[in-house]
Amino acid sequence: MHHYPIIVIGGGHAGVEAACVAARMGVRVALVTLEARKIGAMSCNPAIGGLGKGHLVREIDAFDGVLGRAADAGAIHYRMLNRSKGSAVWGPRVQADRKLFGAEVRRTVAAEPSLEVIEGEVAGLRIEGERVCGVTFADGTDVSCEAAILCTGTFLGGILFRGEERLTGGRVNEGSAARLADQLREAALPLARLKTGTPPRLDGRTIDWSRLAEQPSDDEAWTMSPLTERRKNPQVFCAITRTNAASHDIIRANLDRSPLFSGAIGGQGPRYCPSIEDKIHRFGDRDGHQIFLEPEGLDTPLVYPNGISTSLPVDVQEQFLRAIEGLEQVVVAEPGYAVEYDHVDPRSLDRSLQMRSLKGLYCAGQINGTTGYEEAAAQGLIAGLHAGCIAAGRELPELDRANSYMAVMVDDLTLHGVTEPYRMLTARAEYRLRLRANNATTRLTPLAMEADCVCEERRGWFERRQSSRAVVEESLAFEHSPPEMRSHGFTVTDDAGRQALKDWTRFPGIDLAALMERQLVSRETDGDLLNEIAEDLHYAPYVARQDAELRELRANERVALPADFPFADVPGLSNEMVERLSNSRPDSLAQAARVPGITPAAMAALLVFARKQS
Ligand code: FAD
Repeated sequence: MHHYPIIVIGGGHAGVEAACVAARMGVRVALVTLEARKIGAMSCNPAIGGLGKGHLVREIDAFDGVLGRAADAGAIHYRMLNRSKGSAVWGPRVQADRKLFGAEVRRTVAAEPSLEVIEGEVAGLRIEGERVCGVTFADGTDVSCEAAILCTGTFLGGILFRGEERLTGGRVNEGSAARLADQLREAALPLARLKTGTPPRLDGRTIDWSRLAEQPSDDEAWTMSPLTERRKNPQVFCAITRTNAASHDIIRANLDRSPLFSGAIGGQGPRYCPSIEDKIHRFGDRDGHQIFLEPEGLDTPLVYPNGISTSLPVDVQEQFLRAIEGLEQVVVAEPGYAVEYDHVDPRSLDRSLQMRSLKGLYCAGQINGTTGYEEAAAQGLIAGLHAGCIAAGRELPELDRANSYMAVMVDDLTLHGVTEPYRMLTARAEYRLRLRANNATTRLTPLAMEADCVCEERRGWFERRQSSRAVVEESLAFEHSPPEMRSHGFTVTDDAGRQALKDWTRFPGIDLAALMERQLVSRETDGDLLNEIAEDLHYAPYVARQDAELRELRANERVALPADFPFADVPGLSNEMVERLSNSRPDSLAQAARVPGITPAAMAALLVFARKQS
């Protein structure tokens, strides 16, 4: 029987990151997927990044992941979202040419020497006692492993809906993982149903672009990954149109033909990406909803109308589209549809995304109840990193809510579970002033280097960057007196006292650029790094205020609560507290504090008991 230390099941965004990060650590990995040519396929919108999601892309990239560079390879439109707010919540987003993006993902996968792609269907897991020890293919072949990472996306028990039509599959024209779903159900894994949908794809040659407002690409030169030296492709423009009363009337008159309203779909859909029929139903008073018309690539006329995912019948899709400005003559190239699929209750997983009751089984991506490529890829990275560290005998990197959005997501999922598809939002991160998209590499690349999952190019780049940073920081630490500052042309009073240059930046008219202009700070560094240092200075007082809180968080993260922790034996815990804690199964004292409804008194009782036990 063939053996691989790690088998990854599914070549979507989660599977690719999981397989590649473990392979970068030198671990032999098999990536099994239904169709190898679909590795890196974007099931829905051809865009990567955005609010909260852009942070995830940069964090994955900081670990030398695939997503950021593949996004740059395919990018045909760059936009920094949320520019009017503080830089901590800016959202880098690119629209990508599907073919170029997918080709870059497949090229990266093929270039990993210890990664083997196997085309096939995994029909079952091989389980011995409470451990996964391999997988069985649909043709009956068995392959053994120490860890299996399930990244089956929307394919587990996937059913597609379009009006009265029903098809089995995880995406249109693809199969579903029905056998695996049956086995997981028989093994009593906690499964539930969720739903998502996609809009029709339009023939751009039949859109009247001249009547629509254009949205050009940003003209700054930023890229998703700092290792991408410059933007590679010609940049296109998107256009904006809106639904209107006439299109709403058509949708409203046909709601009974939508599987969402006929009762055919039971699973909950994504709150932050509702279907157009949901929008009309829930926000009936709105006179229109924005639609971004996004070209799908450089050599295709296909256009993705962002904002109108739907599972209405094909004839209704055509009718309501043609009532919209600019789309009066539009031809639908591929109608929209919804998919309902099984997901695993993520509360059954620990922080490494390993199933608590079945060692060696990890789950990552949409299977854990999330939505989005970035969320999937980040989970794949976490699961692959942990499985890879175990296989390679390395220390696990310490990720927590204060150093990454990835850990925020995993903590939210494993502690609270999901009632609807989970997507990343900056509001979910309480330490967001520390977690900026533009400082992801500073926060995380040192951890990635310790885990030895970065290539030489990134290691060298990061070390050079750290040297430049040290030069700037050294000059910022120099103390200057008020007369010295005045001699450089700054207006300051004597009562400010003598202080480090970095503290002088809190005074009006003194910032990094002004200090550099007067040659008080070294100029020899790149623009991105300078922006990051300037923002560090700006946010320093707020960040300093959080430090005490953080010390407590990290100390409490270290007080582990094992999977069989006897909450019922803790003296002084009420039945309600025992029930809440037993349901959420926090794995540390810090996680216990985040279980909704847990009182300070309960935390005090738990702290005394847990410290005695440890
Ligand atoms: P996927 O990208 O789905 O990849 C799963 C992979 O597993 C596939 O390669 C498949 O071949 C493979 N596989 C499955 N079962 C087996 C098996 N038994 N054996 C071998 N291989 C197997 N995201 C958004 O952010 N916004 C949206 O509006 C949105 N709409 C969507 C609409 C639709 C119709 C679909 C299908 C997805 C939508 N998504 C949306 C979700 C987005 O596509 C996913 O979040 C993301 O692709 C999930 O990545 P993943 O790696 O978990 O799974």
